[in-house]
Amino acid sequence: MKLIKLIANLGYGSRKDVTAMFREGRITDPQGEVLYADDKVGHEAIHIDGAPLDPPAGMVLMLHKPVGYTCSTKDPGRIVYDLLPPRFRLRSPTLSSVGRLDRDTSGMLLMTDDGALLHRIVSPKAKLAKVYEATLAHDLRGDEADVFASGTLMLESETVPLAPAGMETVNARHARLTLTEGRYHQVRRMFAAVGNHVEALHRSRIGGLGLDDLPAGQWRLLGAGDVERMF
Ligand code: URA
Repeated sequence: MKLIKLIANLGYGSRKDVTAMFREGRITDPQGEVLYADDKVGHEAIHIDGAPLDPPAGMVLMLHKPVGYTCSTKDPGRIVYDLLPPRFRLRSPTLSSVGRLDRDTSGMLLMTDDGALLHRIVSPKAKLAKVYEATLAHDLRGDEADVFASGTLMLESETVPLAPAGMETVNARHARLTLTEGRYHQVRRMFAAVGNHVEALHRSRIGGLGLDDLPAGQWRLLGAGDVERMF
């Protein structure tokens, strides 16, 4: 791929913008030698304004989504893309969130431009366990774990019962749920179905991948090892 297209596809600007960046000498090799649009160099040998180029197509990142941000691009309020470099939103192929978290839910959100990987993660066949920490408005009554594990719980306005889900009691108002599905507002609706209300919800883990100590609002790139660990 021509350098101008490669760099434009990473969201640094239009082809016209990137042409101007070459002209201004902002695109260099790692030693600071100016590159030209028809140079034959690999991705890793390109710096822009002294910084290495963003990852090529196939990138995956983990964001610690804070409460108050939506996963949509259309929401007029705060969106998760506001927490990333603005050019990430302009990449081609597009960087999308892998599934969604509600505005009021915090925790692990994966984002990728790799469509095949995205489908592999969200596919019901993958049965990837997602772990949620739910803070509840009322004390647990005691039978919730059995109800959720039964595989018979039917959420309002649905026709197929939920797959069995795991629940651990952390304390009377804090439950840890492990789900293999991702239905709309699933955790909140599950607790509503057993007469409770979720006051705060946080996703701490997807498969073998934990959020660990990534601070709220921060993101990090995932490597092949991280992705392997997830499955
Ligand atoms: N379940 C919910 O209710 N909300 C989320 O954001 C994720 C799971």
